[in-house]
Amino acid sequence: MSSWADPVNTPEPLDLGGIRITRIVESQGPLLKPAEIFPDSSPEIIEANKHWLTPAFYDPPSDRLVICIQSFLLETDTLKILVDTCVGDCKPRVRADFDGQRWHWLDRLAALGISPQQIDVVLSTHLHVDHVGWHTRLEGGRWRPTFERARYLFTHPEWDYWQHNEGHPALVRTGDYIGDSVWPVFEAGQADLVAMDHEIAPGIRLVPLPGHTPGHVGVAIEGLSGRLMLTADLFHHPLQCSYPQWNTRFCLNAEQSRQTRMETMRRLSEEGTLLMPSHFPTARPGRLLAVREGEPEARLGHVYRYVCDC
Ligand SMILES: [Zn+2]
Repeated sequence: MSSWADPVNTPEPLDLGGIRITRIVESQGPLLKPAEIFPDSSPEIIEANKHWLTPAFYDPPSDRLVICIQSFLLETDTLKILVDTCVGDCKPRVRADFDGQRWHWLDRLAALGISPQQIDVVLSTHLHVDHVGWHTRLEGGRWRPTFERARYLFTHPEWDYWQHNEGHPALVRTGDYIGDSVWPVFEAGQADLVAMDHEIAPGIRLVPLPGHTPGHVGVAIEGLSGRLMLTADLFHHPLQCSYPQWNTRFCLNAEQSRQTRMETMRRLSEEGTLLMPSHFPTARPGRLLAVREGEPEARLGHVYRYVCDC
């Protein structure tokens, strides 16, 4: 990924009035081949969409989709909340892109003037490898919580699912990230199990988005001057805005995932809600606009277009 433009955090924090949002990027670049993530994709569909996918969202020479892996920092007057923690450093992983890597993610946090000790809450939208890596770091040969003071929030159904699944295909596929990045948080007594509609702070509430994983959640943020939703892995790439029926191969419950995505996208589009998806390589929030009959995208079968001024 070294040839790809160095990703930046949000140019400046997005201020919704009393709640500030900053993205903290770990990596951004061509990562997954369309067929590797979307079983419904085909070379013909990618070719037909190349004119708008390239270069921001698709890299033709490598036939890989451009994916961002990032955290979101939410700041109120009294709390610093980190949503998801990327892949992490020095983790043994099957995928070469993730294995034993050393990112500069902590430096990006430090560049904001924030040390790990200042983080109050760490939320996991779900327990996949690219969302829990910095939950821990290697200290004295052991994995310890990176954020020493923080309470780490996990939803009940998510932890119920993963804690008994040592032989889970996702862990075999990627490496045991539950063992090195999640269990140490429980062993340190820093984990709290919460409901899927838990209110973290006034104006910051979880939104149940089950299907991708059983306890997968988004975060609805309502400040004094605006609102926005972190949609987590409801969709992974702008192609799923065009084709909301597309699941990823990583969605654990295909039918529920599709239903959650299509219902939530319809609501977000109707309400014109600003979104920040976990994996879009876009520095600013966007919106879903319904594609109307007669528009060029309708001929390609698109349902929505993702509109973003970045
Ligand atoms: Zn993800």
